Amino acid sequence: MSTFVVTCNFCGTANRIPAEKEGKIGRCGNCHKDLPRMYYRPQHLSERTFDSFINSYSGPVLAEFWAPWCPHCRAFEPAVRKAAEMLAGVAAVVQVNTQENPALAGRYGVRGIPALFLLREGRVIDQCAGSQSSEAIVAWFRRHER
Ligand SMILES: [Zn+2]
Repeated sequence: MSTFVVTCNFCGTANRIPAEKEGKIGRCGNCHKDLPRMYYRPQHLSERTFDSFINSYSGPVLAEFWAPWCPHCRAFEPAVRKAAEMLAGVAAVVQVNTQENPALAGRYGVRGIPALFLLREGRVIDQCAGSQSSEAIVAWFRRHER
């Protein structure tokens, strides 16, 4: 069974969270405060679910905008999935189908796909375009971590 490490925001203790607790609020084993929710798979969001997810998730969010007809997006998909695993417990990776959710793509000014946005409390911190490796995604994310 796979587990993911989630670090407590209050006391810094590293907690091992099993994969089946994805998306659930857990408690720190040391100080018993709420842990950040852990996601290890990309969450598919729509115009209906996007805002509530972004507003209720306490950590940074990596949002990938893609479309099913785009070969570059299909090539990028495994790296997005891998990055979600690598960042489990640190950041949430979400995917937005721009064909089904054009208003979200418009709100973020998405011109080309795939496009990756780093969001914090709904604000855009940075964005990058095009397919890349999971290691490059994580390195890009870490450059913005304080
Ligand atoms: Zn704690």
